[in-house]
Amino acid sequence: MHHASFLRIARCIPPIAFALNAQAQCSTVMPDRPYLPLGPQSIAERGGGPVIIPTLVHVHYSDIFYPITPDRIANAIDQCNAFIRAQNDDLDQVHPAFADLVGDLGVELRLATIDANGQCTSGILYYDHGAEPGIPDVWSQAQNTASYLNIHVSVGPSSWTIVPFPGAPVSGDPGDGIFFTTYDAQFRPEVLAHEVGHWLGLYHTFGQTNTSGVDCGDDWIADTPITKGSLPESCDTSLSECTAGVIENVDNHMDYSLCGKMFTQGQAQHVGAVVMDPTIARYPLHQPANLASTGVFLPPACDMSTWAWHRLFPNCDSSRVQLFALASGRIPDSLQWSFPGGSPATSTSTVADVFYFNTGTYTAQLTSCIDGSCTTVDHSISVVVNNSMSNGLQPITSLPFTEDFENGFSLPQPHMFAVNDGTPTWQPCGFAGYASANSLYVPAEAVTQNDTCDLVLGNFEFSGLTTPTLSFKIAATQYDFAWWHTLEIRFRQLCGTNFSPGAWQIWQLNEMNVPNSTSGFTPTTDAEWVTLSTAFPVWNTAGPAELTLRLRRPWMPFSFTPEGFWLDDLYIGEAMIPTGIPEFPDEGSLLAPNPTSGSVKITPPPGTDNYELLVHDPTGREVLHHSAVTGSLALDLSSWAKGMYLVGLRAGAHWQRSKLIVE
Ligand SMILES: [Zn+2]
Repeated sequence: MHHASFLRIARCIPPIAFALNAQAQCSTVMPDRPYLPLGPQSIAERGGGPVIIPTLVHVHYSDIFYPITPDRIANAIDQCNAFIRAQNDDLDQVHPAFADLVGDLGVELRLATIDANGQCTSGILYYDHGAEPGIPDVWSQAQNTASYLNIHVSVGPSSWTIVPFPGAPVSGDPGDGIFFTTYDAQFRPEVLAHEVGHWLGLYHTFGQTNTSGVDCGDDWIADTPITKGSLPESCDTSLSECTAGVIENVDNHMDYSLCGKMFTQGQAQHVGAVVMDPTIARYPLHQPANLASTGVFLPPACDMSTWAWHRLFPNCDSSRVQLFALASGRIPDSLQWSFPGGSPATSTSTVADVFYFNTGTYTAQLTSCIDGSCTTVDHSISVVVNNSMSNGLQPITSLPFTEDFENGFSLPQPHMFAVNDGTPTWQPCGFAGYASANSLYVPAEAVTQNDTCDLVLGNFEFSGLTTPTLSFKIAATQYDFAWWHTLEIRFRQLCGTNFSPGAWQIWQLNEMNVPNSTSGFTPTTDAEWVTLSTAFPVWNTAGPAELTLRLRRPWMPFSFTPEGFWLDDLYIGEAMIPTGIPEFPDEGSLLAPNPTSGSVKITPPPGTDNYELLVHDPTGREVLHHSAVTGSLALDLSSWAKGMYLVGLRAGAHWQRSKLIVE
């Protein structure tokens, strides 16, 4: 689909749960050479008003990923237009070094009112994929890309587009559009402005790459300084890493920072050259004949069609239903829900949460209005409120949940049991443990056939967590046949749908990076333990759920010594809060200075070339999350509240945690 001269930059794909928080980390396709503008003139400098881009937004949704409502899309386009026209309210907060360089790209997106088939449209098109498995082929729904900017909203690891170049992409190529991931915080205008910037010809401020924070790079724009670019989630406007004394343009939309609010005049000139070049695929879109045929200057006049969509969050004593008000043809200017039998009984939000307390079929009514004319549709909801699926375990209502298996720990517990299937299973161990002589283990046994050992925990209510995370320490030994132990994490939704019939996390022994290779192994030192950690998929967090840690021993050759498997310091809660996990063995070497008031330098353990960095405040709130860091990293803490923070660094299956005191 892509022209040969384009590099598709490979990116590691963050786990979905983390992607929710991700800023505009994208996977845009860029030419591997600079485009030399025909003439350095912005659209504003050419006169004659902004260039209008007819736009169609294709919104895909299914039983597992939700639709974005039309009002949100229309608002995001309005705000995106404000960003690209330099009409946003926060331009007065641009760093002084760039205040005089703010540029107007001179381009506006406008929802089309006539589609490629000549049909009347609101410009926002919906596709319900229902129970279809997998990720939909959004590109098959593209409409003539020589006439429209097609924005495809669907599930995916990151948003991306193609930076145009003379002759590529070929005008009309169905793959030429913007892909916008549903997980990118619900169609944020900042992310849209970033992708539109690419679509109009801009590179990242850190150059022809999708990975920031690594190398000083150039975007071939004169007034955006050379930079490594910000790591996603950060906003350090004093960044100056590449040229001594030169502040970098962290406020730029084409950085990954959280504080994008401007384009520069140089970028505006580049966009002017790209958009006005007849050899580049953007040109035909804004030609007068196309503007007429796509109806961007016509008031939308279609009939409005409305419908509701919902998703269920079953619970034991009630069922939460999230309803979405959708529309095509026109975008309603007001709406009203009524929910007979539900709580609340009414709402005027396009996305409404309603609770039903009894099993039954309910009818929600949605009345949508445009220009004083209203239509009402009924929407049926089947709710099951069922506590009979309880696993009998005591609810765990306080998170984080920790268990160190100390103080005479025994099984079963009110909230934890080991499944007894007649072969040795999880049991307390009084002779080995992390930072003590106690843990949980499955003793060595001569298993020659499939055997599973399940430790069941629950009931948990995870829905209040941002990044529900499970972490624990294990000790095991690995030699030759690495796969004889497999640890699986299973998740079962109680009182409702079983969302994950299979394991959602499987570690084979060779993925656990255990530092031990002796046969007949028993851990004797803390260095023989490693930490495993995983975050839950976001759609698995509603309602009471049980977790199962399943140790699977598929097969063991007779000639090998049976081996045990140890577990300690179990933690379940918000990502990376080490409550109850006592050790900070490398404190001081990871962070310096510490305590600190201004900045801190984070140095990864030797040999760590790529790591994930998380910082939580003492309440467990994630305050910083960088998914791919290389080398040491300096953080500016001058705006941080005083107090203790928990800094976690993950490389492979290894965590390192430290306390950071900001004073
Ligand atoms: Zn990008």
